[in-house]
Amino acid sequence: MAAPAPRRLAGRIGRQLADPLVALLLAAAVVTTVLGDVPDTAVIVLVVTINTLIGVLQEIRADAAIAALDRLAAPTARVVRDGRDVVLPAAELVRGDLVRLEAGDVVPADLRLVEAERAAFDESALTGESVPVHRSAGQDAGSGTVLTTGRATGTVTRTGAASSLGRIAALVSRTKPAPTPLQRRIAGLGRVLGLTAIAVSGVVFAIGVLAGEPLIRMAITAVSLVVAAVPESLPAVVTLALALGARRMARTKAIPRRLHAVETLGSVTVIASDKTGTLTQNRMSVQQAVTADGARYTVAGTGYAPEGEIRPTGGDRDGLRRLAHAGLLCNDAELIPPGGERTEWTAAGDPMEAALVAFAARCGLETSACRAASPRVAEQPFDQATRRMTTVHRLSDGTYLVVRKGAPESVLEPVTDADLLSAAAELAEGGLRVLAVATAVTAEQPDPSDPPRLRAAGLVGVGDPLRPSARATAAAFEASGVRLLMITGDHPATAAAIGTQLGILEPGDRVVVGDAGPPSSDDLEHARVFARTQPEQKLDIIAGLQRRGEVVAMTGDGVNDSPGLKRADIGVAMGSGTEVARQAAELVLVDDNLGTVADAIGEGRRIYDNIRRFLRYALSGGIAELLVMLAGPLLGMPVALLPGQLLWVNLLTHGIPGVAMGAEPAERGVLRRKPRSPQESVLGDGLLASVLAGGFCLATVVLAAGVTAGRMGLPWQSVMFVVLGLAQLGVALAVRVKPAPGTPRNWSLLAAVAVSGILQVAGVLLPTLRTLLGTEALSLPVLLACAAVAVVPGLALRVVHGLLAGLSARRART
Ligand code: ADP
Ligand code: MG
Repeated sequence: MAAPAPRRLAGRIGRQLADPLVALLLAAAVVTTVLGDVPDTAVIVLVVTINTLIGVLQEIRADAAIAALDRLAAPTARVVRDGRDVVLPAAELVRGDLVRLEAGDVVPADLRLVEAERAAFDESALTGESVPVHRSAGQDAGSGTVLTTGRATGTVTRTGAASSLGRIAALVSRTKPAPTPLQRRIAGLGRVLGLTAIAVSGVVFAIGVLAGEPLIRMAITAVSLVVAAVPESLPAVVTLALALGARRMARTKAIPRRLHAVETLGSVTVIASDKTGTLTQNRMSVQQAVTADGARYTVAGTGYAPEGEIRPTGGDRDGLRRLAHAGLLCNDAELIPPGGERTEWTAAGDPMEAALVAFAARCGLETSACRAASPRVAEQPFDQATRRMTTVHRLSDGTYLVVRKGAPESVLEPVTDADLLSAAAELAEGGLRVLAVATAVTAEQPDPSDPPRLRAAGLVGVGDPLRPSARATAAAFEASGVRLLMITGDHPATAAAIGTQLGILEPGDRVVVGDAGPPSSDDLEHARVFARTQPEQKLDIIAGLQRRGEVVAMTGDGVNDSPGLKRADIGVAMGSGTEVARQAAELVLVDDNLGTVADAIGEGRRIYDNIRRFLRYALSGGIAELLVMLAGPLLGMPVALLPGQLLWVNLLTHGIPGVAMGAEPAERGVLRRKPRSPQESVLGDGLLASVLAGGFCLATVVLAAGVTAGRMGLPWQSVMFVVLGLAQLGVALAVRVKPAPGTPRNWSLLAAVAVSGILQVAGVLLPTLRTLLGTEALSLPVLLACAAVAVVPGLALRVVHGLLAGLSARRART
């Protein structure tokens, strides 16, 4: 339940004020008030107010972005309302609603089943027991369980917190989402920075007191220095950058279900994709058929419409019809004719089985009549471990027909069916998915798991064309240094053919076969195509890759995929996939397009770049402030800058431009460089050195300006104040992205810098601010000179970075 808005606002303000730095400032304000130091009190109060305002606004924006994602990713339910099926957010269910479930759906509320057709539920979410339990009409299905096979409808008996899952959730007390690894690392970095700033400020305090400055003034100076040097907006900048990045991803149809995902996407090194439906269209059609006597047929027609010629025509087609008939019976799919909004034939159920139904129609069989004439009396459903399915049918003469279909090596006999097996290998090499069908007729009803000897009826080769964008997607991953793996349960030859079409498999590359045992470390390092893989082997592959330090994204859509999706660093679910897969995943692809993941990776990299950009800018400024205050006494300036001046600079540099920096566009070629190492620290890859160098450069310029001004008899402190502020803004401009042609400029950063620059100069121009900040007026020529000097650090940074980039580019080329 959401708390009423005013209380939430009070809570937000309270959280901002509870920040240790702010608490320190408020304590200082109490002291200055007691001393009657009105200007310092006013500055402190102003700084705390504006900081709190910025903090609260950032938090509200971030929360709004996260809430919008939560709504997009919320579980849904298919409900009958006013006689029609509608899809609703599961939270809107009420008692008495009639809910429809299909295999792969998560039960959205406690249900009393009204209809149940071969319905088996995985109740592990409630009981921990993962063997599916069969339930029939009249029985209950608990919320949070998963319908793994069959179909069911049920009326809602309890919803939300009252339901079975709700009660369990109440036991496991509701907690805030854990901070992401980056947020944790940033918090750690903040602590280190805080302690460093406190230590340096302590030295500044000691020097001042020894030099005879008043104790309390020095204490307030030290507090202001700590506040100024630590980029207090850092956690907020990180959260906001992640949240807004998540929202941008959602707009490109990749919905991150947690902030975590946005950050991890930036560092993905391997993407493990399933083949069917992700790389291929999952619109299957039978293209070749081989009957038991070796006769071969070519089937024309794509899609599920019953039209499509079978060649050669003529001749005795008994064998072909027997094959098609068996494939139609051992089958749960249904074809739906065009009508209403649908202009094409569509399929319900497994697309490959739907292809068999269409094939039977093309062979001239009347599908519903055939099924009605031979009712199914027993079955063993398709199992990915055995790769076959068996059904038993009662025939009109009282005998029984057993049909088994599945992968050729799981259905055929190596010796008697040798010819068919070699024909199967040939079809697979052409990129077709091959199914073998075998049958037997018995007098007694047989057990489908242990039928009598079956005789082959033939083979079908099922085509599933690559998605039109799949090759481009594979190339995009290649360019961005992300290794694309294809993991499939299909035959190695089929997988190899598809891998070659995709461009990820070169002639001579190895296809790793799951049935041959666990993948070797060499396979994990180099292989691209994994065939005949069992669901649990996917977990082994992911775990193996993770042990090698890879950051793995895995795609999936089925019931069996959820463990893998959870295990991977980023689970990617297809929007059209099952509800379980979507709920197990961290990223949902609304349009089922794997190419969107490449864009999302680019977005993740952009956000990470921008966080580092903020760090480079904010930390070099903080270091400069510490150095100026430390070195001042050596240069005859016992207190280089007054507390109010430090706080003012801090406000104008860390506050407004910092937030705008998160909106910088992506670096040119962000998707053409290698992923960063997952072990790398946020300050790694030269950032720390760059921050230190930047800080030294800033401090040197500021001190030099102060000393020169002092020699010339100018108000040196005000000169240093202006140069320090403007030079940091110059750095903000210098760390900007070089905009790739066509990308819009980040005007918010330019505007933020302009506003901050004006306020900085106003600090010495407006009489009121002069009184508050203890500055003196500067003439126009002096101000211009300050501005000219302030350009130096940013310029130096830009030049050095240009040189370094050129150097590393040359090194990369040679
Ligand atoms: P994928 O990874 O491509 O989804 P699957 O695990 O679904 O692969 O299928 C593996 C193999 O099992 C297929 O090549 C096929 O031979 C067989 N198979 C798949 N679906 C069925 C089914 N409904 N009935 C019988 N056999 C099937
Ligand atoms: Mg499959």
